[in-house]
Amino acid sequence: MKLEMTDMPVPEIGPNDVLVRVRACGICGSDVHGMDGSTGRRIPPIVMGHEGSGEVAATGTSVREFREGDRVTFDSTIYCGRCYYCGRGDWNLCDNREVLGVSPGEYRRHGAFAEYVAVPSHIVYKLPDSFRFEHAAVIEAVSVAVHAVRITPVQLGDTAVVVGSGMIGLLAIQALRSAGCATVIAIDVDDLKLKIARGLGATHALNGGGAGVSEAVRDLTRGRGADVAIECVGAPDPIRTAIGSVRKGGAVTLVGNISPSADLPLQAVVSRQIRLQGSCASNGEFPICIDLISRGAIQVEPLISAVAPLTEGPAWFDRLYRHEPNLMKVVLQP
Ligand SMILES: [Zn+2]
Ligand SMILES: [Zn+2]
Repeated sequence: MKLEMTDMPVPEIGPNDVLVRVRACGICGSDVHGMDGSTGRRIPPIVMGHEGSGEVAATGTSVREFREGDRVTFDSTIYCGRCYYCGRGDWNLCDNREVLGVSPGEYRRHGAFAEYVAVPSHIVYKLPDSFRFEHAAVIEAVSVAVHAVRITPVQLGDTAVVVGSGMIGLLAIQALRSAGCATVIAIDVDDLKLKIARGLGATHALNGGGAGVSEAVRDLTRGRGADVAIECVGAPDPIRTAIGSVRKGGAVTLVGNISPSADLPLQAVVSRQIRLQGSCASNGEFPICIDLISRGAIQVEPLISAVAPLTEGPAWFDRLYRHEPNLMKVVLQP
């Protein structure tokens, strides 16, 4: 598959849509991996990009909440509002869920690596005046971490372990501190990431994997283990580390999913009564994230590796695809 810059017509908007003049859009790992066709979710031709922000350029006839010139960002998930799950408020589990900038075959939703994008108004959120567009391009990632923490049973003073200190892990560390965790232990195999983790609120940083790391967590927690763990890698070893790091009755929230399946230390989970829970995308947490970032409770600036013009997009995709070290979020500006 080939990534190229091309002229597209300005998208048409329906009565409930908002036309956004895009000012910034983040490159997501799913875009980079989707580009080679391996995921089957970027069937061309498709304008990718679901981590966008910008100004309202036009509004559909039924839209009352937004006006031309409003500074906005938008969720990546378009939910139907009518299915069983939407009725329960589980919008992230919507049966008719569509994602901006994605084309898995059943639908094609052009995204925000463009001058303009059309977005349904029910997933658009206003940004405070001082909120930078580049920072808004990271909100989708923030929302994934915030959702994972929100569905994890965390109490004031708890100890949490975060396995994997990449983008989502570093955001989860900050969200856990905001949620009241007194101790947050970052785990990774990369010292540089662990250093960033310490700078963003992790109280401890452990390099390594396997039983040794779980032992070290136990040493830090009077031999018990952490109350909760958030797993942000999604491979057999890190999952085992997460399960091995929590106390009896603890909870593990699984966010990472690089591997389609993983072995489970079944008897440890059952006999220690550990709760395992998956966390999918986010569920309406955008306003919470805008607030957390505005207050400085979650910092996104250290996670932005580069801000570049959209025309340099293909080169940045290439660098990300080749796993150039120390690259986290790259934000493009049309
Ligand atoms: Zn994304
Ligand atoms: Zn639905």
